[in-house]
Amino acid sequence: SKPVPPAEGATPALAQWFAAKAAHPDALIFFRMGDFFEMLFGDAEIAAPALDIALSYRGEHRGEPVPLCGVPVHASETYLARLIRQGYRVAICDQTETPEEQKRRKAPTIRREVTRIVTPGTVTEEALLEAARPAWLLALAPAGERLGAAWLDVTTGAFGTASLAAADLPALLARLEPVEVLAPEALARGPALLPLAGRIAHQEPPRDGARRLAEAFAVATLEGFGAFSAEEVAAAAMAVEYVRLTQAGAMPRLAPPVPSGGRGLLQMDGATRRSLEILRSERGDARHCLLGAVDRTVTPAGARELAARLAAPLAEAAPIAARHDAVGFLLAAGDVRAALRAALKGAPDMARALARLSLDRFAPRDLGAIRDGLMRAEAMESALAAAAGVPPVPALVAEAARALRPASSPRAELARALADPLPARLEDGGLVAAGYDGELDALRRLRDGAREAIAALQMDLAAAWGVASLRIRHHQQFGFLAEVPAAAGERLLREGVKEGPQAPVHRQTMANAMRFTCAALAELDRRVAEAGEQASRRERLIAQHLRRLCLDAAPGIAAAAAAMAELDVHAAAAELAARGGWARPEITDRADFAVTAGRHPVVEAALARARGPAFVPNDCDLSPGRRLCLLTGPNMAGKSTYLRQNALLVILAQAGLFVPAEAARLGLVDRLFSRVGAADDIAGGRSTFMVEMAETAAILNQATARSLVVLDEVGRGTATWDGLAIAWAVLEALHDRIRCRTIFATHFHELTALAGKLPDLAPAHMQVREWRGEVVFEHRVGPGAAERSWGVHVARLAGVPRPVLARAQEVLKALEARARGLDPLSEELPLFARPPAPVPAPAAHPALAALAELDADSLSPREALDAIYRMKSLL
Ligand code: ADP
Repeated sequence: SKPVPPAEGATPALAQWFAAKAAHPDALIFFRMGDFFEMLFGDAEIAAPALDIALSYRGEHRGEPVPLCGVPVHASETYLARLIRQGYRVAICDQTETPEEQKRRKAPTIRREVTRIVTPGTVTEEALLEAARPAWLLALAPAGERLGAAWLDVTTGAFGTASLAAADLPALLARLEPVEVLAPEALARGPALLPLAGRIAHQEPPRDGARRLAEAFAVATLEGFGAFSAEEVAAAAMAVEYVRLTQAGAMPRLAPPVPSGGRGLLQMDGATRRSLEILRSERGDARHCLLGAVDRTVTPAGARELAARLAAPLAEAAPIAARHDAVGFLLAAGDVRAALRAALKGAPDMARALARLSLDRFAPRDLGAIRDGLMRAEAMESALAAAAGVPPVPALVAEAARALRPASSPRAELARALADPLPARLEDGGLVAAGYDGELDALRRLRDGAREAIAALQMDLAAAWGVASLRIRHHQQFGFLAEVPAAAGERLLREGVKEGPQAPVHRQTMANAMRFTCAALAELDRRVAEAGEQASRRERLIAQHLRRLCLDAAPGIAAAAAAMAELDVHAAAAELAARGGWARPEITDRADFAVTAGRHPVVEAALARARGPAFVPNDCDLSPGRRLCLLTGPNMAGKSTYLRQNALLVILAQAGLFVPAEAARLGLVDRLFSRVGAADDIAGGRSTFMVEMAETAAILNQATARSLVVLDEVGRGTATWDGLAIAWAVLEALHDRIRCRTIFATHFHELTALAGKLPDLAPAHMQVREWRGEVVFEHRVGPGAAERSWGVHVARLAGVPRPVLARAQEVLKALEARARGLDPLSEELPLFARPPAPVPAPAAHPALAALAELDADSLSPREALDAIYRMKSLL
């Protein structure tokens, strides 16, 4: 932020600005001036370019013009959204009294106060939120080696806590993807939070966290919610305090915190999530990712729930099976599913409307959302009731059905009270339907009756003033005025009666007309305004009453909203499966892993979109006795697709969805590790190989016998023998010590020699065929190791000239012949008994030496071509 000039000598209004700025130095101040929010001084210089609006100067402060820019209040949400997205915080300094109240106080300026601070983690406006993503505010409270974490979503009231080892923070961040983080300064500066720098607010854990938390939930003790560690309590209190601060004292409705919200979940670190592209692709788009490929939900709340489930799959058999039961039921009961989805489609986001209601920051449509949402919920309940009986309704569906019809529902009352259509803003009036409130109806009648009286008065005046064309018009500033043509006006000025209620009083002269008022007209004007004012006051009162009704029923409404989201997810999973090719996975407590004809949902969808060749399904068997699959094959053969696909199957299955396969028997996975694809950490300043090794170390330190590990090309980032040695040792450790299920892709064909030495290792390869001298990738996994290196063939595909290819073939043969003598597995050469010698060049020619150095398998076609040119230049 920019330096703030001294406040001395400020006008009364500017003094209010300085006070707000002093209280919130790290926020931009949105300073309400009538119909605008103005930004002043340094704030204006920041906001004008950020919002692409004009910077101007007005008035003076200490002899200098005041820089200023502004946005209209009615459009402020969009501008707020842009500032928030750019990482700014905004303090709203609003007018908190009416001009009349100011006059009564005889104050020099209207009262203004900061009514809230807008931050990424505490916004509730539709325009500022991503509809299909939860908006987690994460608070972190360090306690020695451990860390208390609390995350809450003010837009839905969801609230979870956990106590974790400090080292597990990156995994938690990767899982929640918080929109804002609260942390003490020392922690905020640490490496884990570095990438989130723009979204961190510094805050110390409060000393009396337990008391504050109990107060916030109006309970004597937190015990009723579960057992919390001290650090969890501290973090939860931080989050609650922050919300209170940013809402200027108002509290959104929050569900009681759920302790240790991390137990019973499939553990995945950030690298695994990135590599599997669960909620977004590695490039960051939300379409070419797992969520994008499997999301058939029809509501934003359902999409949020699905995203949450994919980000945090379960790791216990019973709750997973319960979800599968629900999906299976809705798959079989197609008409019930159709009825549910029809009721869900276009259903309003009740959870978020409820949050806005609880913060008293609501629009008429939020009340409408509760009314319509509850109506949809009841329709869904009826659809499920009709299906009761055969087949038996599974537990989760039955539970949801009960929640869909809350015991104390404000639905009927809202239906009677709310007008249709609803006005956009409360100030517009017209929120309450006619016939709901007698007093309001009477006030409205008075208001509208006065209008009729005005029509009558228009006729009276026309007669009394002798001007047939007299019209009564409403004027923004003067109220009702009688307008007559200029000539008639001149006459009235000269000879009009001077006394009595109908005596014309001149107000305005225009080109062709003159405007007059009179005592009778002024009296009517007052009555209309008064009735209108009273009616809108009455309406605000009713709006508050309806809001209270909703808040009193909030737990039931929130439960109904959650049930709708859950049914949306189950129905969406069933919808996906209904098209065929998706199967209910069998989840076991053993170390099973047997997939028949599995597919990669994202690649499959991409191929279908491109109308390319169909996706080739592949089996995967990592059952005991063959739990380590060593996969070989050239680039582009489909190795990484196969690795990811089997990891994704686990995520889908344990998230409670069906899987893209003919059949799958999966033993529960406790931790999933995936290292596939680019591992560059440019921002972190570490070399590719360093990152690769750090990630490999994480696996070797954390994987258990119940884990699934998919690894691509370990050791590719270093010299050949170095890399082979590391890959070798990692493979042995996974096989002998960790004993987890593993798919290990490699271009080190030498590793396949381990097949005979490691009993649970099963080699497999991506099938490649040669057709008329061209390489054809079959994308099919076959047993055994790949036979040969296909680098030269890829070079051909890339258009490398034939004579060069022919020469390369010859050289390759020569190399292979020489290398056989150096095979670390050959009987003469005991395993790693002495350091392997580097591959010697088969001939002294520099072109051949260059070729010998090439790692054909790791070349892109482009690199292969470049290499060929380089070699040619050496000839
Ligand atoms: P590798 O990791 O062996 O270099 P990829 O897994 O990246 O190969 O696959 C290369 C391309 O091949 C993919 O982009 C995809 O279009 C195609 N592909 C991979 N697997 C399949 C499959 N099972 N069926 C059809 N096409 C596939």
